[in-house]
Amino acid sequence: MKNIIIFGAPGSGKGTYSDEIVAKYHMGHISTGDVLRGEIKNETELGKIAKGYIDNGQLIPDELMIDILAKTYDALPAGQGVIFDGFPRTIPQAEALKKMLAARGHEMGMMIELIVDEEVLMARLLNRAKEQGRADDNEETIKKRFAVYHNQTAPLSEWFAKEGIRNTFTWAGSKEQMVADICACIDAANA
Ligand code: AMP
Repeated sequence: MKNIIIFGAPGSGKGTYSDEIVAKYHMGHISTGDVLRGEIKNETELGKIAKGYIDNGQLIPDELMIDILAKTYDALPAGQGVIFDGFPRTIPQAEALKKMLAARGHEMGMMIELIVDEEVLMARLLNRAKEQGRADDNEETIKKRFAVYHNQTAPLSEWFAKEGIRNTFTWAGSKEQMVADICACIDAANA
């Protein structure tokens, strides 16, 4: 299986569609947000550093993130394909990912971008706050995360387009349709 980078704004469904893809294709899954929340829960040194950034809606510094990503990747079984969910979020992270994979004889594979209107995103995140109680899902922090996304992460979309691996999917109201379209694209890329 080709590696997959799932890309989109906070609330665009990266985690949801990653779970669908993992269930269908039995790939590895790295959610950098989940890795960081695990570190916070276990009260590690890294968790203490990460908490300050996450609670503020800011990105963890690239160098730290790139190191965490490589360690998490190397701990997964090789050869089954991995979904990168929430990484990369900056151009230096994307360049580091490409380099890290190339050093291991691997490739980025394909990028899946989820496009969703901002009002829908905000409604979803506020709903997730009620259901899951994530500390960074409050209106003030969500607005900061949107700003960080627009300034630091969204420009990466073009970076992936230049790499020739961008595939975009626009939310039109049906999760089933999104899953079907995404799976068709994955099947075509792996054919
Ligand atoms: P997520 O669960 O992907 O929405 O991530 C939650 C938070 O974790 C983000 O708002 C960032 O503070 C931090 N984070 C996750 N992934 C990254 C990354 N690739 N680079 C920097 N910060 C990250």
